[in-house]
Amino acid sequence: MFKKILIANRGEIACRVAATARRMGVKTVAVYSDADARAKHVAACDEAVHIGGSAPKDSYLRWERILEAAQATGAEAIHPGYGFLSENEDFANACAAAGLVFIGPPASAIRAMGLKAESKQLMEKAGVPLVPGYHGAGQDPAMLHKEADRIGYPVLIKASAGGGGKGMRLVEKTEDFAASLESCKREAINSFGNDAVLIEKYVLRPRHIEIQVFGDTQGNCVYLFERDCSVQRRHQKVLEEAPAPGMPESIRQQMGEAAVAAARAVNYVGAGTVEFIVEQPGGYDHPEQMKFYFMEMNTRLQVEHPVTEAITGLDLV
Ligand code: ADP
Repeated sequence: MFKKILIANRGEIACRVAATARRMGVKTVAVYSDADARAKHVAACDEAVHIGGSAPKDSYLRWERILEAAQATGAEAIHPGYGFLSENEDFANACAAAGLVFIGPPASAIRAMGLKAESKQLMEKAGVPLVPGYHGAGQDPAMLHKEADRIGYPVLIKASAGGGGKGMRLVEKTEDFAASLESCKREAINSFGNDAVLIEKYVLRPRHIEIQVFGDTQGNCVYLFERDCSVQRRHQKVLEEAPAPGMPESIRQQMGEAAVAAARAVNYVGAGTVEFIVEQPGGYDHPEQMKFYFMEMNTRLQVEHPVTEAITGLDLV
């Protein structure tokens, strides 16, 4: 067990990590920006290091400063929390190069799950069900249009590097495809610096159900049931519910096993979430008709983990 770790984050998640470390007898080092000098996460840790100005790019995203702080205080590992550096494979590699443990998945798993199209290609090989669609490398507009016609409308154009509900366009008919593709690519290059897209069949009245997984460094992986996040506004979750309502036991098990297969395919370590979109053609009266498809994997702790902690009694941190 580590004797001391540095928490490279602020707010709720930094406090959660600090509380778990304290319970386990691990000393903690906080980092903070000018604005956070008197923040709760600073008080929650045993030591604190000032790392810069109030803007995240001047503090919580400055990883050389954070690595220096870890070395100066004798921390053995860095916990990234969520957001900031948590899904930055370069930072994970830089920790290793500095002789520090990055508490999270291997950098290779962060990379493999980082882009929606590439991760889908990997999942296809691992036998995880995917939404019918196109997720190849080709980006020729005429070819993409042909793929959309083949899939059948409505389709969803998604920025491969997208997130947070951004970079998505619903296309109802073939005449609208070209204009939607152009506007999706424009948003993608502006927001994510990458305009590659994929195309998916648009699932009508979908449910969003995600599976919590956990891997260790010995190749073992388990699932800790599901969270239902179907209640959304602008493709962003509003409510999380666990267990998912009207979920047959056999489907719960199939989804759990598919999530574990996804995690194993990237040698996953630590807490992760595998997101599925679920089609329920017969509505809630016919849950046995549920069909689920892989959407993406979040390779980090999440804000919604306390929901799973409440149903399992486990501390995911
Ligand atoms: P982000 O990474 O931006 O959160 P996701 O790919 O996770 O994007 O999708 C976010 C939400 O968009 C989903 O929870 C769902 O509501 C909707 N969505 C995504 N893919 C589809 C699809 N193929 N059909 C219908 N709705 C979808």
